Amino acid sequence: MADGDGMRLRLAHLYADVMNVYGDRGNAIALRYRCEARGIALEVDGIGIGEAFDPEAYDLLIVGGGEDREQRRIADDLLTRGPAIRSAIEEGLPALAVCGGFQLFGERYVDADGTVLPGIGLFRMETLPPARGEERLIGNVLLETDFGEVVGFENHGGRTWLDGRQERFGSVVEGRGNNGKDGSEGARVASAIGTYLHGSLLPKNPAVTDFLLGKALARRYGEPATLAPLDDSLEAAAREAASTITRRGDGEGLWRRLRGLLRR
Ligand code: GLN
Repeated sequence: MADGDGMRLRLAHLYADVMNVYGDRGNAIALRYRCEARGIALEVDGIGIGEAFDPEAYDLLIVGGGEDREQRRIADDLLTRGPAIRSAIEEGLPALAVCGGFQLFGERYVDADGTVLPGIGLFRMETLPPARGEERLIGNVLLETDFGEVVGFENHGGRTWLDGRQERFGSVVEGRGNNGKDGSEGARVASAIGTYLHGSLLPKNPAVTDFLLGKALARRYGEPATLAPLDDSLEAAAREAASTITRRGDGEGLWRRLRGLLRR
């Protein structure tokens, strides 16, 4: 009998149909895979704009990335749900918000046209458009985090600045991170993680997936949650390959350095 036999978890996938750049949907697939491998059933509900949603009824919440156009579509709807989402997360609901979703979980996002989109204010941070002449932050990323080395891919114009009291998700080893300047990447509040990393993130970083699942189980069934170990050799190989490619430096990194030299 698998460890979690009879256990069930509910995942709210916010705006699954709108916010899904670079296959961020893979995060829901990874969560389900690591549940099912342990005999835990994971029900995934896509929550669309205007649909009824009570965060308290869920054990996990995820939202993916999207470009400015998609962010404008969801911003008003998300704002109305802000207080309920914030209070559920502050009371322990684990969550993952990626890129465009991450930006709107902060205090505000000023997009490339100067339009101000107020966020739900879970993370103490704001995101500003690139200054004139600044490029999008694109490429493979390697982070040092509380979950060990995390790999992913970023592509964002917005520069996120954390308030001094706001905890980061990780520190940039390779890549650009929140703003390309201060070495921070993402943000954490309670059991919620915000990050720019696509990939998608969770399939290649099972320690992060299991952190979210452990918190979800503890919330529903009480501490301590025990997660049976899985054979992660494929995930480890994928992370190792991504890490090697990233450390070697991708084409974009090389061009950036060359352009920097030519500008001097
Ligand atoms: N529109 C945002 C930016 O470019 C987010 C992009 C994304 O989610 N990939 O900063």
